[in-house]
Amino acid sequence: MRGFIGARQTTLASEISLTGTGVHSGAPVSIVLYPADDDTGLRFLLSNDVAEGTEIAADHGSVTGVMLCTVLGDGNGASVATVEHLLAALRGLGVDNALIEIDSPEVPIMDGSSAQFVEAIDEVGLVELDAPRRFLKVLKTVTVEDAGAIGELSPYNGFHLDIEIEFDTPFIGKQRIEIDLNPGAFRRELSRARTFGFMKDVERLWAAGLALGASLDNTVAIGDDRIINREGLRYSDEFVRHKALDAVGDLALAGAPILGAYRSSRGGHRLNSLVLKAMFADADAWTMAEAPRHREVRHADLSHRLAAANFAAERS
Ligand SMILES: [Zn+2]
Repeated sequence: MRGFIGARQTTLASEISLTGTGVHSGAPVSIVLYPADDDTGLRFLLSNDVAEGTEIAADHGSVTGVMLCTVLGDGNGASVATVEHLLAALRGLGVDNALIEIDSPEVPIMDGSSAQFVEAIDEVGLVELDAPRRFLKVLKTVTVEDAGAIGELSPYNGFHLDIEIEFDTPFIGKQRIEIDLNPGAFRRELSRARTFGFMKDVERLWAAGLALGASLDNTVAIGDDRIINREGLRYSDEFVRHKALDAVGDLALAGAPILGAYRSSRGGHRLNSLVLKAMFADADAWTMAEAPRHREVRHADLSHRLAAANFAAERS
């Protein structure tokens, strides 16, 4: 069975080992994704010299950085960076529970997208656990404006993304994607979209000792008059699709699949984090909703929408 969104929680059918490079440190990284019990959620287990044995939940309350990537920390100096593309793959494919052991403070960048994580998860597959899946159900619209960016979560019977970006370069300009998300749509429409950067920024970051692992193997590089990567783009609007992928990863920090619609204009990791924080700060804006056990849905690629429709029917 491949990814699915059913009425029961899932985990990986077996463990997965991956190696790669940290995009900021340039250092080699090994990660192992382990199956985990019901209600574990997605958790990082740090196994490096600085933070041996420290666990950090993939939770909005653990966010300690949002500048170039999303960083999670335990408040005592232990942290793990660039979590978004891996969390996007896990959430995008409907994995509720997993323990992610990592020997570096940074998740490997792989090819700059979620594609290799998705491939590895699809290879082992998922198993259903006993506990019913729990959704974070948005009950009212929460809007955040931040330095020209707007983000909004609103009620929706499924998981809908509406992402818009605008960059003053002919290679990007204004791009918008609207998508009802389920594992098939995530795999097909978002998972292969790579991170991107402007050559002039990358050169500045390199000079500052950052983005040392960034290369044309993991970043779409935009020059003054061309896309530098010889292979070109994977989707004609790969940039906005990557922003949507980032949003899936950042919203995984809600701690459960979201039943709601997320709209973002000119946003990024910071906005995604601010919207989640604003929602959790308002107790009337959300509730945890459990999928009923006796109406189990077992089918590859069923959407949140279908699971939600069953759920609504059971409750009404
Ligand atoms: Zn990204």
